[in-house]
This record gives sequence, C-alpha cells and structure tokens, in this order.
Amino acid sequence: MENLIKILAKDIVAANGDAIVFTGAGASTESGIPDFRGPQGLWTRISPEIFDIENFYRDPDSSWRIYVEHIYSVVSAASPNTAHIAIAKLEAMGLVKAVITQNIDRLHQKAGSKHVIELHGRYDEVECQWCGFRDSIDKYKYIELFKSSGKAPKCPKCGKTLKPAVVYFGEPLPATELVEAFTLAKTCKLMIVVGTSLAVYPAALIPVEAYRAGATLHIINLSPTDLDHIAKTVIRGRAGEVLTKLLEEVEKEISISKTL
Ligand code: NAD
Repeated sequence: MENLIKILAKDIVAANGDAIVFTGAGASTESGIPDFRGPQGLWTRISPEIFDIENFYRDPDSSWRIYVEHIYSVVSAASPNTAHIAIAKLEAMGLVKAVITQNIDRLHQKAGSKHVIELHGRYDEVECQWCGFRDSIDKYKYIELFKSSGKAPKCPKCGKTLKPAVVYFGEPLPATELVEAFTLAKTCKLMIVVGTSLAVYPAALIPVEAYRAGATLHIINLSPTDLDHIAKTVIRGRAGEVLTKLLEEVEKEISISKTL
C-alpha cells in the first residue's frame, strides 16, 4: 500500500493543481455515517425503495420518518474525519482544484474544502418541487414539526408537500452541478476516486468521462469497483488512513522537488 500511495503522491504533485477528488459514502463512514452498500450499510437495515421518488410521493409521511431517523439524525451529528481534512488541505495547497461529491453530508465544506460540487443535494435543506421554494431545514423547524405531528411538512409558499433537498432514486441530478462536474472531468489531468462503489448513475460516469478524456484515475476504496481495471492505482484501505499518509507523502514530494 505504501508504494501505491507514493505513486499517487508523485502524480498529484505532477498534475500541478489539475486534480479532482470524486467522493462517495465511503469517505464519510469514518465519521460514523454508514454507506449504503458496505457490510454495515443502510441497505442491510432498510429497503432502497424507500428512497425512490415515487415512493416518496405515495407515502411522504413514512419517507420523512425514515429520513429523520436514518439520515438527518446521523448526518447532523457527524464531524469531518481525517479523509475530509486531508482533501481540504490538498485544495488549500493548490493541488486539488475541486471535490465532486455524491455525499449529502456537507462534511467536505465543514473540513474547509471551498470548491465542492454536490451532485445529490444536501441534507440540511428542504425543497418544494411544485413552486421551487427552497430553504434551510432549520428555518421553520421542519424536523421538530415532523417529530411532533408525524406528517410531512408543507411548503409555506404553496402548501404542497416539502421534500428533503437530497436527490432520490428516479430524480434528475441538478443540472448546473452535473454540467460543472462533467466539464471538470473532461479537463482534469488526475482524478482520485474515494469511497464509492461506483454503482449509482449518472454520477459513476464522471470518472469514466475523465479517463476517456485522458486523465489518470486512482481509486481508494475498501471493496472492488467496476473501474478498478482502468485505474493506475487501486488502494484498498480506509480513506482517512490512506489520505493522511498521502498528504505526508505529498509534503515530502514537494520538499524534495524544492531542493532539486
Ligand atoms: P456506496 O454505499 O454504494 O459505496 C460505498 C463504498 O465505499 C463501498 O464500495 C465501500 O467498500 C467503500 N468504503 C466504505 N467505507 C470506506 C472507507 N472508510 N474507506 C474507503 N472505502 C470505504 O456509496 P456511494 O457509491 O457513495 O453511492 C451511494 C449513494 O448514497 C450516493 O448517492 C451517496 O451520496 C449516498 N450516500 C451518502 C452518504 C453521505 O452523505 N455520507 C451516506 C450514504 C449514502
């Protein structure tokens, strides 16, 4: 593993600021947020169908209950881990241009990352798909309202059902973020994929697009992915541990190149 991390460190420095990090739920498991498909994943406890958009509108009260119990309560209590912190440091050093994340947990921003593209929304906002109203989940105490009534909160503007501002299965991804993510993928020199099974589309096509456009891919993930065969390195380790070592190697690499 150490040798692979050294190879990745050299590539990051050589990319000279043109590296993108692409993250999934595995980047946040060390913060105590379970992933979906891992051995302790959410799918071992609840059915994925609950996050289907048709199911949401068929039974919004049950969907909100699952959201509050399994997503909001866990995610709102979490703090960034060493993976998020290392990624933010690499950006601050001018080596990472942006983070494209499938995560809704805001932990990259909390760790200090500035340029974060959220493909699947954010856990701390609500949206009305009828009139376009969008607001912080805290503003009108939607969580407390739900807990006291057991009913999905209503839009203060048009009265229709509000939805957590996360992308449910069967919903399109936000257009602006999707375009920016694909544009970055097409133009970057290096993409580091962290903690994703690469099983959720279209997000999983972003590293494919980067590879097709000529970028080098590196994957840090505990279990195999469909893109392992096209990656220059596949590092089977915990994201927090690997990225902390990577940051150390990058710092060594920079000091060596300064002395040459
Ligand atoms: P996934 O559950 O399909 O895959 C997670 C991958 O991360 C697995 O392959 C697993 O082996 C790996 N992994 C788990 N812990 C790891 C660690 N410490 N270090 C390295 N690898 C680790 O998740 P996905 O690919 O992101 O897709 C699921 C969808 O669910 C995405 O849309 C995602 O945003 C969403 N989701 C988000 C969160 C979050 O915001 N934290 C949590 C769960 C699911």
